[in-house]
Parts: sequence; structure tokens; C-alpha cells
Amino acid sequence: AKAGAGGGHRHFRPGMEARGVERSRLIDALAAGIEQDQLTVYYQPVVRLSDHRVTGVEALVRWRHPAQGLLGPQAFIEVAEESGLIVPLGRWVLRHAARQAAAWGPDAGTISVNVSGVQLRTAGFADEVAAVLRETGLPAQRLIVEITETVAVGGGPTAQNLTAIRDLGARLSLDDFGTGSSTLTTVARLTVDQIKLDRSFVDSPVIAGAVLHLARGIGADTVAEGVETLDQAARLRALGFERAQGYLFGRPGPAADLRFPGSTAERT
Ligand code: C2E
Ligand code: CA
Ligand code: CA
Ligand code: CA
Repeated sequence: AKAGAGGGHRHFRPGMEARGVERSRLIDALAAGIEQDQLTVYYQPVVRLSDHRVTGVEALVRWRHPAQGLLGPQAFIEVAEESGLIVPLGRWVLRHAARQAAAWGPDAGTISVNVSGVQLRTAGFADEVAAVLRETGLPAQRLIVEITETVAVGGGPTAQNLTAIRDLGARLSLDDFGTGSSTLTTVARLTVDQIKLDRSFVDSPVIAGAVLHLARGIGADTVAEGVETLDQAARLRALGFERAQGYLFGRPGPAADLRFPGSTAERT
């Protein structure tokens, strides 16, 4: 906190300084954690609603914090984005998830990886994706890059990266659709191959139906997120959703918990 700048502690609120210290500790610990292989990837199945068969998995990062135990992304992704650590973190997740999916083999289907707007704005990000595909041997068609932010298009590095990623043969998925971070503006500006209905709309047939209609209009595949009950699955299927993801079909878990024919789980 810049409490000292021009005016002493007039605006000091109890806890402010402590939070600043806590935040820089978190940044230092995360930087070290990335270096020291404390990150791990959990995988959650994505299923086809017509037969509940697994068509792929989504990679979700976790941090094995030396003192605090297993931490979910809500504990560190925001700070990673603000500090720039999301770049090495995201690089690690992409490489790790691609290697795992390649090891599982084609029966594991698609591997969806979350990519931050900060990464997409970095020139050369698509080259990194290409290198990962080359090094891991993962066919581009199996990779789905999940994006959320309304990205500014118009010759910037983001647009170049997104175009280049699709040119490689990988697919783009618009995550959390309907929330503030993924809007109609994004659809209007980008070519996306998949739309994921945010879980807050899973019980709203009007919104779910509208999103489905939109997805069909642009030829995008549909995934409903956060499906927890058979009833929800049945209603989403009746509406026309192709795929779903949620606790009903499987919670995110370590690679070893997922078995695909002929696969080998990587030790993490
Ligand atoms: P997301 O991409 O929307 O991922 C889905 C989140 O919903 C996951 O939370 C998952 O555990 C949770 N979820 C799945 N099924 C259900 C369900 O049936 N009910 C409920 N209530 N929740 C469900 P998680 O793993 O805590 O991840 C939170 C967010 O962190 C992700 O949301 C994504 O935005 C971000 N994230 C995760 N991994 C990465 C990463 O490697 N890079 C970046 N940039 N962001 C990541
Ligand atoms: Ca996602
Ligand atoms: Ca989502
Ligand atoms: Ca989310």
C-alpha cells in the first residue's frame, strides 16, 4: 500500500497494510511454487448429453501450497494475472495438460485449457502453443483453448494469437458465456468453435435456450457447465445442448483418477 505517498496515513484503514504484505507474500510464494513444481492439474470430464460418454476433459490448475495444502484457482489466479505470473503459470499448465492428454491417447478425446487474456495479449503466445503441440505430439484437433475476456480486436496481438491458434487446427471455446466476462460483443468479433453456458444459467431455460440458438447460428458446439443433477442434464439435453460438465458426471480430480483405454497416467 502506498500509504506514505503525500499525506501520511490519512487514508490508512486497519488491515490495508497487512493485506499488501499478504499479497506480496502470495506473489513470492507463487513464483517459487511455479519454479518448484508445486502446481498440479486436475481434470474434469466433459460428456455428450445423448449418452453421457466422456468426449474430453478440462484442465483445472491446483497449487499444492507447502503450508496451506491444496489451493483452488480462486486463491491465486487473480493475483497471478495482476502480477504477470499467469504467463509462466499458464505455460506450465498448457504443457503439462498437453503432455498428459498425449499420454492418455486419442480415446481421451479433447483437452480444454483455460487461457487468460494476459497470455493472449502476449505476442508469440500462439507460437508457444505450436511448440507445445510439436513437443508433446498432441494433435492440434484435440486441443480446445478456453477464453473468457472480451478481447479487443483490430490487429493487436490478441487477434493474431487467436487466428494463429485456429490456423494450427486447435479450437476456441468461449467460457462462462453470459457473464460479464464473455458477452455478445466477443461473439460478434471472434470466430469461436464452442460456447460454454455459465453454470449460473443452467436452471434458466430462457437464457440457456437463447445461448443455444446463438451457438447454432454461428455453428458452435455447446457445453453446459455446472450440471449437478440428472434433472438438469435431461432438461439441457431436451433443449438441445450437445455436451455438459459438472459434478453429476465427475468432479475435477488428479490424472490418475481418470482411466482411458490404453492410457497411462503421468506422475505429477
Ligand atoms: P471455469 O473455467 O469456469 O471452470 C469450471 C469451474 O467450475 C471449476 O472450478 C470446477 O471445479 C467448477 N465446477 C465444475 N463442475 C461443477 C459443478 O457441477 N458445480 C459447481 N458448483 N462447480 C463446478 P475451479 O477448478 O475452482 O476453477 C475456477 C476457475 O479458475 C475456472 O473456472 C477458470 O476460470 C480458472 N482456472 C482454472 N484453471 C486455470 C488455468 O490453468 N488458467 C487460468 N487462466 N484460469 C484457470
Ligand atoms: Ca473453463
Ligand atoms: Ca466456465
Ligand atoms: Ca469461471
